[in-house]
Amino acid sequence: MRVQALDEVTRRALSTVVVAMDGPAGSGKSSASRGLAGALGLRYLDTGAMYRAMTWRMLLDGIDVTDAAAVAELADKPVIIPGTRPDAPTITLDGADVARQIRSDSVTAAVSAVSAVPRVREVLRNQQRALVGAGGIVVEGRDIGTVVVPTAQLKVYLSADSAARARRRTAEMAVDDTRDEQSVETALLHRDTHDSTRAASPLSCASDAVVLDTTHLPLSDVVDTLVALTLEQVGGSRVS
Ligand code: C5P
Repeated sequence: MRVQALDEVTRRALSTVVVAMDGPAGSGKSSASRGLAGALGLRYLDTGAMYRAMTWRMLLDGIDVTDAAAVAELADKPVIIPGTRPDAPTITLDGADVARQIRSDSVTAAVSAVSAVPRVREVLRNQQRALVGAGGIVVEGRDIGTVVVPTAQLKVYLSADSAARARRRTAEMAVDDTRDEQSVETALLHRDTHDSTRAASPLSCASDAVVLDTTHLPLSDVVDTLVALTLEQVGGSRVS
């Protein structure tokens, strides 16, 4: 997506803005967040990828992810480095590129258990805050507006009905993946329940978030809405 032509005052204001994007699995957060960041020349942080990389480390080390004490003991060992370019998000774990491994079914099935462990959240939250730094970033996750950056200038909660979310996820799946929409929807709902009922910073909508239901919205409309909301927030305007 083309970076918008913006006046100098707006560009300066954007260099410190933080946009918090939360919502359940498959709500379109990643595509929308990357589209917004790309359009306004902002950095992009996928906190879900960090929880996934932590989970992959646990699986590689043979840790039983339902054993919270064992997960907590290992939580500050992995070196997880997410890239922040919206056009080419990257993630390394202990120096190795794990972008493909973190999207595997085994990680997806285990990530909610790992991310419910308070020590895991503390370690990754500290790192996320350091990456946010002075701002100029779109951050996507489950607890960004509520816990990680409660002072974010714009908080958005993306939602979509579960059938639409399952349809999107099924369309993104590899050609040799034979799961049907129904089983994908069941797995999504299971993960949402786990993520929103855990004690440590559960998935929830911040009281001051803008709620955007994307069930019937094409991605381009979602991105346009987010660009407009962000510019409104920084009091800026486009040059063209
Ligand atoms: O966004 P994604 O679906 O890749 O996130 C994977 C998992 O990471 C979520 O299901 C959730 O368990 C965890 N997560 C979290 N807090 C965040 C981002 C993701 O607990 N801020």
